[in-house]
Amino acid sequence: MGQGADTLGDDTEVLIVGLGPVGAALAALLAQYGVSSLAVDKDAAVYPLPRAAHFDHEIMRLFQQMGLADEALRHSRPAPAYEFRSADDQLLLSFPSVAGGTVSGWASGYMFNQPGIEHALRAKLDQSPLVQTRLDGRFTGLAQDRDGVVARFDTPEGEVTHRAQYLVGCDGAHSPVREAAGIKLLDLEFDEPWLVIDAVVTDPDLMPKVNLQICDPARPTTCVLMGPGRHRWEFMLLPGERPEEVIQDAFIQNLLTSWDCAKGAQIDRKAVYRFHGLVLINGAGAGSCWLATAPTRCRPLPDKAYVRACATPPIWPGSSRPLLRMGPIRPCWTPISPSAIRMSAP
Ligand SMILES: Cc1cc2nc3c(=O)[nH]c(=O)nc-3n(C[C@H](O)[C@H](O)[C@H](O)COP(=O)(O)OP(=O)(O)OC[C@H]3O[C@@H](n4cnc5c(N)ncnc54)[C@H](O)[C@@H]3O)c2cc1C
Repeated sequence: MGQGADTLGDDTEVLIVGLGPVGAALAALLAQYGVSSLAVDKDAAVYPLPRAAHFDHEIMRLFQQMGLADEALRHSRPAPAYEFRSADDQLLLSFPSVAGGTVSGWASGYMFNQPGIEHALRAKLDQSPLVQTRLDGRFTGLAQDRDGVVARFDTPEGEVTHRAQYLVGCDGAHSPVREAAGIKLLDLEFDEPWLVIDAVVTDPDLMPKVNLQICDPARPTTCVLMGPGRHRWEFMLLPGERPEEVIQDAFIQNLLTSWDCAKGAQIDRKAVYRFHGLVLINGAGAGSCWLATAPTRCRPLPDKAYVRACATPPIWPGSSRPLLRMGPIRPCWTPISPSAIRMSAP
């Protein structure tokens, strides 16, 4: 595949496919190190509703490094205690809220509003002369050679190619870049559909003050605070239940009858997602093509999808500088992770 006369933008060292939170964070961090990038997304706008609920203090360190800590705090609140309760409301496990006692000085975790943070990240990119963005390009394929990589995109003007020294796939759970790069997945056969219900809080006094995991074998359930003013419930689907039937209002109302707090919130989203255990079996990249997508979330526990993704690759090829600078404290990012729990629409 040769370079077309019509390229997507000026020459850059790095081509980032996907401008979700990971692609945007990567572009901002690269710019801090003086590395130019072009970030391309197929969608013109930030996805308007939250998907992720939680990030941890290491991610807050990243926002701090990018000069976005104040913005991130505007769209988040420290994670409260996390309680695991039995079906008859016995406390089984409790993780206390850690407001400022972590090695980084930040709260151990934050509940956040994903669209707010994504807008802040994109605004940061707009300020950098080293970052170009294109919001009308659908990645369709790539070819690597000795000098780098050439990627193909469908755009409103037709097919366009773009050459870069490196390409990083930040294109989410289904990752066309992963497929094009031949990075294979091993299915761990953990694959559960869950109903996710998001709501805008209308009466904060009625809402729980802690995150809850209801370990009811009859219907495992999650109930968590989100970013300021928002709430979420998640219900595991039982064998035989179909997505199109569980998103009906009557079905949801029935699920929420035992939750008094549901009176204090207005539902604005319902969707069924799969929690799918997958492992990258031949690495997360080689040569000029790397994968930094963050489909990693082991439900129903909050974990470090962002950390894994944003810190990937922790050492930029050809450089001795880690993208994620953790200072003199213990380096607590995980290097490129071979494991992935994919969350995707069925
Ligand atoms: C219900 C739910 C709860 C979650 N909770 C958490 C949580 O608490 N914490 C957490 O860390 N994570 C959580 N996740 C996962 C969360 O969505 C991801 O961490 C985060 O959104 C991943 O960011 P990303 O940038 O890797 O991918 P995405 O946000 O999926 O962004 C990928 C981008 O790539 C673009 N793209 C895709 N294909 C192409 C193509 N062919 N060409 C060009 N562009 C393309 C897309 O348009 C999109 O903008 C949750 C997910 C769901 C669904």
